[in-house]
Amino acid sequence: MRITPEPTMRRLPHYLHFLKRQLENGVEKISSTIIAQALSLDSTQVRKDLEYTGVKGKPKTGFFVKELIQAILEFLTWTTRRDAFLIGAGNLGSAMLGYNRFREYGLNFVAAFDTDENKIGSEIYKVPIFTLDKIPSMARRMNVQVGVLTVPAHAAQTATDLLVEGGIKAIWNFAPTYVKAPKEVVIENHQFTESLAALTRKMVEVDFHLEKYRLSNLEGNRT
Ligand code: ATP
Repeated sequence: MRITPEPTMRRLPHYLHFLKRQLENGVEKISSTIIAQALSLDSTQVRKDLEYTGVKGKPKTGFFVKELIQAILEFLTWTTRRDAFLIGAGNLGSAMLGYNRFREYGLNFVAAFDTDENKIGSEIYKVPIFTLDKIPSMARRMNVQVGVLTVPAHAAQTATDLLVEGGIKAIWNFAPTYVKAPKEVVIENHQFTESLAALTRKMVEVDFHLEKYRLSNLEGNRT
């Protein structure tokens, strides 16, 4: 199996969302040039990315939209249902449990875990909440492959260790810290503050450069 470059993996959902919108608008065929233009990408890059899915575009007509959507979904294995546990049913965790779109991508929350006694024994969006000590045995019995962490930073490693004990294959970590697991466990760290940092810093820098540009134009007009 070819190793997919990570940027390619990360671009594929963008193609998918765009293609789905095209299909809704009645578009049946599309070229990589059109996709590239719409997403402000290089068309050679788009062609290369799409090659990974195994679908071949035709020189003049390009790709069949439906076929390409299906190929991307299969390539990302989003056509396969994956049961998942969520650890930390707080505000973020609850929102994730209620976000139905995850099912379109194969991610299906079957149970959540928390230390808060008021939450244990209840359900959030029909997902039952259990104590953390149940994680290893339930994960093995239910053959759960994915663990999602929405706990505070201090609780992330303990939750990870319990998931690993349960034979989990992947951890999607939203806690503001990094966690360690054996190398056969896939870990995807998603820190909101990472993109927020880029956003807020760019705001300042864009403002600064716009002001500089405005001042230099004023100067230019005076001379
Ligand atoms: P809350 O519902 O308590 O207001 P919150 O969304 O404000 O939560 P956090 O304090 O980050 O945010 O907690 C997220 C969730 O993680 C909460 O449901 C909390 O009870 C749970 N939690 C806290 N400590 C642990 C722990 N050690 N193990 C598992 N879950 C924990």
